[in-house]
Amino acid sequence: MKITVLGSSGPYPDAGGNCSGYLLEGSETKVMLDCGNGTFSVLQNYTDFFELDAVILSHLHMDHIADCFVVRYAFETAQVLGKRKDPLKIYAPAKPFELYNMLKYKDVVELFPIDHRLQLSIKEFELSFLPTVHSLYCCAVKVNQGNSKMVYSADTEYFDGLADFVRGANLFLCEANYTSEDLSLGRKNHLASFQSAQIAKKAEVDRLLLTHLHPKNARSVVLSEAVEEFAETELAEEGLIFKV
Ligand SMILES: [Zn+2]
Repeated sequence: MKITVLGSSGPYPDAGGNCSGYLLEGSETKVMLDCGNGTFSVLQNYTDFFELDAVILSHLHMDHIADCFVVRYAFETAQVLGKRKDPLKIYAPAKPFELYNMLKYKDVVELFPIDHRLQLSIKEFELSFLPTVHSLYCCAVKVNQGNSKMVYSADTEYFDGLADFVRGANLFLCEANYTSEDLSLGRKNHLASFQSAQIAKKAEVDRLLLTHLHPKNARSVVLSEAVEEFAETELAEEGLIFKV
């Protein structure tokens, strides 16, 4: 499985950056995981967008879905030009329903709800979902391809069940919106990087990739606080590619 970082900022992009979005590729499968602002532009540096099998949205906060509202025009054009027959499949939590419904677009987008019961097969990828602790219904996403496994935390604060879901991942793509200082100020809904690293350690993952990096935080601080807990840690950056 090849994972390309399309955006790693949150909840707004830093200068020249993009919010959350990742391209997952198998030998015959292409899936976009989250679709934050700016990510669809970057995706086209790596693949023909009209070959995407699906877009998976972890939750409906704008920094994870904004580009969905323009991707529809690209797929509509691809249909007109005969490059694509089928609608684009978008999988997303159906809460809040008004927002979920806005993701529909003519016969260009086909929409499917995600919840914790869903076991999803997309060609060679097997996906499962775990609700996280966040201000909006949100699911962490596990993707298995044969013996390869990556897990994406999506947005969450710390909770006990996450490490079990992540256990044994070759790559743990985990949000690190906060520093320890943010947590000490009582901020909620997200992880500090040292917590992401503690989960990685407990879950015995091979590598930790920190993402959803807040533009206000020095990336060096975010990284160093995590590395103290788990050495195999890197920061996600647009264009970084990982193979697991
Ligand atoms: Zn969020």
